[in-house]
Amino acid sequence: MNYQRFFEEAIDQLHAERRYRVFADLERIVGKFPRALWRSNGRTQEITVWCSNDYLGMGQHPDVVAAFQDAAGRMGSGAGGTRNISGTSNPLVQLEAELADLHGKEAGLVFTSGFISNEAGISTIARLLPNCLILSDELNHASMIEGVRRSGAEKKIFRHNDVAHLESMLQAAGRERAKLIVFESVYSMDGDISPIKEIADLADKYNAMTYIDEVHAVGMYGPRGGGITEREGLADRIDIIEGTLAKAYGTLGGYITGTSAIIDAVRSYAPGFIFTTALPPALAAAAATSIRHLKNSQAERDAQQQQATRTKEILADAGLPVMASQTHIVPVLVGDPELCKMASDRLLGVHGLYIQPINYPTVPRGTERLRITPTPFHSDALIAELRDALVETWDALGIPYGTAGQPAVAESERVIPLLVPKSGG
Ligand SMILES: *Cc1c(COP(=O)(O)O)cnc(C)c1O
Repeated sequence: MNYQRFFEEAIDQLHAERRYRVFADLERIVGKFPRALWRSNGRTQEITVWCSNDYLGMGQHPDVVAAFQDAAGRMGSGAGGTRNISGTSNPLVQLEAELADLHGKEAGLVFTSGFISNEAGISTIARLLPNCLILSDELNHASMIEGVRRSGAEKKIFRHNDVAHLESMLQAAGRERAKLIVFESVYSMDGDISPIKEIADLADKYNAMTYIDEVHAVGMYGPRGGGITEREGLADRIDIIEGTLAKAYGTLGGYITGTSAIIDAVRSYAPGFIFTTALPPALAAAAATSIRHLKNSQAERDAQQQQATRTKEILADAGLPVMASQTHIVPVLVGDPELCKMASDRLLGVHGLYIQPINYPTVPRGTERLRITPTPFHSDALIAELRDALVETWDALGIPYGTAGQPAVAESERVIPLLVPKSGG
């Protein structure tokens, strides 16, 4: 057997399907967000990043960077152990209290990533419940699918955001059987929002537990950044709220919040929590600083919404196929994997704008797209530059114009001054 050949063929297949992933070698520049250095073929060039999940630029916020540096200076770089064996630092304990408070829950539990929090959280909860049936939205993130799989529980997939379909499954299972509904608030590739209240009503009616992924909403929605559940006043109707520290909060790590009993059970039974080194104290301190800042400051949220709305309008006015989105995410339809990759390459190589192509399996075939994420730091001038570059690229490659859906209604008509990047440290 020629082992190497199997790996080479596996890679060849990705090339043939035009979904081989190429990473951009970047160096983000504190104080110049969203600018970064891009290294390619021995050349270094300054470019603008248009696809980061550092949605509010908090990864460079001076207070967050200072908290990181201060904690690292006092406590060192690593945690030194698992949570059980010397790795539970005081900043981590404080971070968990901050997260419980954010969602109005009794307790919070931090994992080393949002991926692990879903994988460990869902699998452990469903495994502990006797004969649990998991009801999972068809567009759930890979980390949730992994959690469902690892639980070993029976699962049923309901059509995306389809509460009637979900209800038929709940009805068939009956009130007595243990049931866990897993879904997201903001779906990050289309930018749509789930019917949280209707799902919570069904959970009450059929006595099911609810688990929501608010990864693309925490920090950005709700008066304190508690996500869509906070904005809609529904946090107390959802059993487990999961989120990440790596997107709007600009650091790293994931978490779940819920009742003390649920959180204590996951803490005590989840291998993905128990048998791994804890999050370092500096990251915990930086994350807590970021969360605290966004609990008290609305400016970043308002400016993000304003610039996202503006981006949608300006691109749609230019005839570009902006897909319908109810949130800060601006997907622009290309509809072909090869063209999508070529458009991304041209935007970066010719225009110095970085937007990663989103191809199958992240999105369905035929819906390949550029996923644009405007932040408070993407100024009107940068948005105009983006429009011109996209139009040039659409023309050069012959990508179809046209409407791909109605641009979302402006969430805020107010004009909010843009945030000016500040130097960290
Ligand atoms: C990114 C993402 C995660 C994983 O979060 P990380 O902290 O990046 O591991 C979980 N759920 C959804 C919906 C995501 O998009």
